[in-house]
Amino acid sequence: MVASSQPRSAYVHIPFCHRRCFYCDFPVVPLGDRGDGTTSRSVAEYLRWLEEEISSSPPGPPLSTVYIGGGTPSLLAANHVVWLLALLNHQFGLAPGAEITMELDPADVCAERLQGYQGAGVNRISLGAQSFDNGLLMGIGRRHSCQDIKTAVALLKAQGLSRWSLDLISGLPGLTPALWEATLDKALSLSPPHVSLYDLTIGEGTVFDRWLEQGRLSLPPETTAAAMLDRAAEKLEAAGLRRYEISSYALPGHGCRHNRVYWGGGHWWGFGMGATSSEAGRRLTRPRTRGGYQAWLHGPRAAAQRPCSPKERLEDLLITGLRRSEGVNRQQLAQQCSLHLEALMTLSPRLERDCAQGLLCCEGPYLRLSQPQGFRFSNQVLADCLLWVDELFAPGGAAHGTSLVAPA
Ligand code: SF4
Repeated sequence: MVASSQPRSAYVHIPFCHRRCFYCDFPVVPLGDRGDGTTSRSVAEYLRWLEEEISSSPPGPPLSTVYIGGGTPSLLAANHVVWLLALLNHQFGLAPGAEITMELDPADVCAERLQGYQGAGVNRISLGAQSFDNGLLMGIGRRHSCQDIKTAVALLKAQGLSRWSLDLISGLPGLTPALWEATLDKALSLSPPHVSLYDLTIGEGTVFDRWLEQGRLSLPPETTAAAMLDRAAEKLEAAGLRRYEISSYALPGHGCRHNRVYWGGGHWWGFGMGATSSEAGRRLTRPRTRGGYQAWLHGPRAAAQRPCSPKERLEDLLITGLRRSEGVNRQQLAQQCSLHLEALMTLSPRLERDCAQGLLCCEGPYLRLSQPQGFRFSNQVLADCLLWVDELFAPGGAAHGTSLVAPA
């Protein structure tokens, strides 16, 4: 079924962190190591901006998923979260059984705060564990320890929060296969119903980027890093966590409904600094700095939005949709991008080669990455997909011009 263009999901960005981790290139406002966001004037001002943005949105159907991400949303007091969810409820409504996820820093979790978040309506937690080795955690600029993670998980369980996820990062500097094995064992000993596993990427302008240029960063060799990811897939799947997306593993019924909206080409509201939204066929990424966001909020906002072209939409749907284990259905893609199905049924020679090599599976209208090989070489296959789309829309390509764009 093709998703309606009316968003039923919302992402809210809370940009505050104590300090910036060495690998992080997210839109973040560091508050310093002392105190938290409960009394900060900077936070109070940002919440007022969020209120302006949310309350000036056009009305829409009740939200089925909300994701409060960051930054470090757990710097917010419980009453901030009560207020934020009440604001969303007032503007759109919250559907019965809505999934409401909040990201938590293990160093911030205490019973009282957790109870407050839960009382506000939060029913899913994404815990930024990243590693279970204190040396590695310190080496990437995190504040929490391995013990903080264990304490946070014990509190989640004591609170009866059964929907939660552990975030882990592989490929960290100093990570060895033995340390990785221990990390996975410690993670699995906590019986997580969901694990998000990311390979370290070094963003431009980060501390790690500078250290890499200066030759001060020692990363695991590429083949070792790939082998560690394979080992993680083996161990997580053996523990019953099915890999339902390249970086996501879940017990049955514990997949993240909100992220599925992104991967399935659905629509969502985005609120706050650096947040992206996708509504009414338009994609918009807000400015990534505090000043830029404030100026945008108080300027002619509509001018910043532009509709996605069929080519951009197709690129987006392929890149996100192929991340899922089930892949994409070209009948749906054609419908979502207003293209004739025939335009998508002939693959490029590169993609044919990927099929022949067992990286990509093509069954009727369905395309999906194979596991584990296709997932392992996803960058290559996704790059080949983008080249295919370029060819489709190039002069003489099967989707070029308006003749193949279906009438509205
Ligand atoms: S806590 Fe997360 S968002 Fe904040 S600096 Fe670290 S990685 Fe970035």
